[in-house]
Amino acid sequence: MTAQEIMNSEDFKACERFHGHVCPGLSIGYKAAKAAMDRLAENRAEDEEVVAIVETDACSADAVQVLTGCTFGKGNFFFRDYGKMALTLLSRNTGKGVRVSILPDASARDPRHTELLQKMMRGNATDAEKAEFKKVHLQRTKDVLETPLEKLFNVTRVEMELPSRAHMEPSENCTRCGEPAMPSKMEMAGGEKICRGCAEIG
Ligand SMILES: [Zn+2]
Ligand SMILES: [Zn+2]
Repeated sequence: MTAQEIMNSEDFKACERFHGHVCPGLSIGYKAAKAAMDRLAENRAEDEEVVAIVETDACSADAVQVLTGCTFGKGNFFFRDYGKMALTLLSRNTGKGVRVSILPDASARDPRHTELLQKMMRGNATDAEKAEFKKVHLQRTKDVLETPLEKLFNVTRVEMELPSRAHMEPSENCTRCGEPAMPSKMEMAGGEKICRGCAEIG
């Protein structure tokens, strides 16, 4: 598929709607999620629940949530703050899964793109530079989408202990602010059971 065909696909459009814009990071997440789903399906038993672990909270994580159905709110989406573009997709039943990580040379940078990106982030890009950035950024997105998987990612089988399931518990009211909170997340302070928000204020 050409980059344009991928960008016109329903899957990609859903990622774009969720994330808010099209970018190289979203495209990497899109390809990583697709690769992981494909691999996991190879030996997937019936009715397995899938868990995703991402190692970055950058743009790619949004495509992972859309495509895998593992989401922050459902409790089957976990974030490890390693600053690495890697996605592990696991079966909750077997603990077997697949880890997709970006290859060292896959993110070979276009120095002009990096330079413009920094200007954009500092907020001191001229109008001409903003226009150029838009063009270069889109080109990098397309480059990612057209790169064959084996040139982008290292894909390995993994087997691991799973993070515990999301659990529900009846809330208790914080004795300080009065707001309901999960008791297991509350703290004792001076004989009072208070929420973490209040605990942080001290
Ligand atoms: Zn983005
Ligand atoms: Zn409180």
